[in-house]
Amino acid sequence: MTRHYVLIAGCAALLSACATVRSGCESGEIRLSQDFANAPGSACTRTGPASFELTVLPESADINPSPWYAFDIITPRPAEVSVTLDYGDYRHRYRPKFRQADGGWITLPEETLILGDGDHTALLRLDLEPGTARIAAQEVLSPEDRAAWRAAFAEQHGLEREILGASIEGRLIEALLRRSEDPDAPLIVVIGGQHPPEVTGALALRSFLETLFGRDRADEVLSRHEWLIVPDLNPDGIMRGHWRENLGGLDLNRDWGPFTQPETSAVRDAIEARRAAGHTPFLLLDFHSTRRDVLYTPDDAMELSPANFSADWIALLDDSWTGSGAAFERDPGHNPGLPTSKTWFAEIYGAPGLTVEFGDETDRDRIEALATAAATALHRYLRDQD
Ligand SMILES: [Zn+2]
Repeated sequence: MTRHYVLIAGCAALLSACATVRSGCESGEIRLSQDFANAPGSACTRTGPASFELTVLPESADINPSPWYAFDIITPRPAEVSVTLDYGDYRHRYRPKFRQADGGWITLPEETLILGDGDHTALLRLDLEPGTARIAAQEVLSPEDRAAWRAAFAEQHGLEREILGASIEGRLIEALLRRSEDPDAPLIVVIGGQHPPEVTGALALRSFLETLFGRDRADEVLSRHEWLIVPDLNPDGIMRGHWRENLGGLDLNRDWGPFTQPETSAVRDAIEARRAAGHTPFLLLDFHSTRRDVLYTPDDAMELSPANFSADWIALLDDSWTGSGAAFERDPGHNPGLPTSKTWFAEIYGAPGLTVEFGDETDRDRIEALATAAATALHRYLRDQD
């Protein structure tokens, strides 16, 4: 009796979870499941033997429109399956990606997707082989995948790992370090993963670091600097398939200054510890995604040290860029009212902070080429400093 009561109460408190169970998406011959890290657990309704509807809504109202979806379709036979994504007041943003047998991801062909109702709905028509098909707004990089990448990268390139703190749900905020023997070595900070759906920023960060640290381990330019790298700042948001926030209900890139959240505070403390030890903050790069490849830089009029970093770095980048079109757009600005990492770094340390943005649908080869060019240009810039 008591148990019954608890179950009913639980159902009332968790309407979306109960709707999922009641709707039967997870039972039957052909199933839709969101039972994996990075899947948001959108309310699901079965609309036919091989058709489903997902209500894709954010973790809180009025946040950056980044409708994130991720689900598996499990079918024992070849089947045509349709999934309708209902974005409510939001509009379709991410072209669906499909995980292949080798673990790589491809963008589904244009014709599998029909937008409707002024882009407030998207109908996916999928021709599936027997087995489990994973479909998501972007490549799924779970907290475990990200931790494995960091460990392998640190091992391969001789970086140290340090636990800076933990997220609200207790996931570790891990930094990769390359220490300098010079106690006065300038500090370079590289961060990423503040916003969960911004997977192209995460892919770019990996290519950037692989190019930068893929050199000779004794590389003198790297050794002249103290490096603090925090690739995955919002593991809880990623785990839960959030659009924007951490579990504290905050956009972490609006917490640089207030520092009310454990994830941002951990990075601030790590920077401050190095500063106290004699390392002057020199540069911060913060990797993100948006609708295009763009660098949000400080205003040229700001008196920062090093002076003119953005213009000099971009000139070197453009100089070596052999890909199609321009490399990055540049969008200079400084908004003191907006507590982003870049604004905070410039205001507190008088040093350049840049937001490095990659397009949601930028070709993945171009992302790798751009990130590689950015790393090569940074190395040249640092080499020419003395
Ligand atoms: Zn972002």
